[in-house]
Amino acid sequence: MKFIRGIRGVTAAALALTLAACGSSVKTADEAPSGGSAAGALVGVTMPTKSSERWIHDGDNIKSALEKLGYKVDLQYAENDIPTQVNQIENQITKGARLLVIASIDGTSLTTQLQEAADHKIPVIAYDRLLTNSPNVDYYATFDNFKVGVEQANSLLKGLGTGPGPFTIELFGGSPDDNNSTYFFNGAMSVLKPLIDSGKLVVKSGQTTFAPTAILRWDPATAQRRMEDLLTKTYTGGAKVDGVLSPYDGLSIGILSALKSNGYGTAGQPYPPVTGQDAEVASVKSIIAGEQYSTVFKDTRKLADVTVKMADSVLKGGKAQVNNTTDYNNGKKVVPSYLLQPVVVDKANYQKELVDSGYYTAGELK
Ligand code: BGC
Repeated sequence: MKFIRGIRGVTAAALALTLAACGSSVKTADEAPSGGSAAGALVGVTMPTKSSERWIHDGDNIKSALEKLGYKVDLQYAENDIPTQVNQIENQITKGARLLVIASIDGTSLTTQLQEAADHKIPVIAYDRLLTNSPNVDYYATFDNFKVGVEQANSLLKGLGTGPGPFTIELFGGSPDDNNSTYFFNGAMSVLKPLIDSGKLVVKSGQTTFAPTAILRWDPATAQRRMEDLLTKTYTGGAKVDGVLSPYDGLSIGILSALKSNGYGTAGQPYPPVTGQDAEVASVKSIIAGEQYSTVFKDTRKLADVTVKMADSVLKGGKAQVNNTTDYNNGKKVVPSYLLQPVVVDKANYQKELVDSGYYTAGELK
């Protein structure tokens, strides 16, 4: 009975196929491998951490949109611990998930689980961060990550102003195990490098490549420590830093703390422009207060929407809509991608982009 209820609406031919596919064991639609009816199917969603707000928005948005379409959702957070995320994905496969949406901690570390998913014919959507070194990634939904970096660098230049320079800056990179980080860094350097080469910008620490600037797991405390070190070791004898490229709001908050404890943030010595990403509440408040200079807003509602549409098409046996089939080679294949456009937000446009768009209420930013 359970089985009949589960596959209600399936034609006799499909029923025969489903029975054949299931072998002798009788399964509900929820437990059936990919190929059965999509109605009520379980979708496994794994997110890296709750320590950064954006992933909470992402998870909530995906879950509610999938549930509205009638799917069941198992949503998990791994607190940036790779073995935890590995277990969560394995559990979802065991529980009979029919599709996986994965925002990885380390994009290279899930190849075994992705193979298991493929063995069970479970399609995989890489969410925001590419899953690398595996052929078993069906789609990628993200923002134009190179453009994020370009926008951060342009905003930094805007913050430095129109003077002739030279301007003294420092660079921060994201987590080295996150495939996005080098896209952000390379995008930013496509704008900054020519100006560093011409002498208009000076990176006083000399750290102009990704490796020495990268902050493992995007940890704000690590960024704060690095900024402290730069200020105390490189900016001696009254030298001042005029701007900081930061790829993520959490890091920006750490960088601003280090600047504050080294005398910045006063009328006589205001904060230099510090960029960011994600439009997290603390950073938007900081922007309104004239501390952090800017952030890059990536509307997680839109990313969830694209991802849920992808999931729904795939679960119904179709192909997902993509808009990029060239840029995201994961080392084994070019993963068909849907790229959304990021928007720089500073004091001038936060109201329009974040409040008028309904992303935050005015009260949340007070
Ligand atoms: C995301 C960014 C985020 C960063 C830290 C990246 O993969 O694309 O939006 O700021 O991770 O969580």
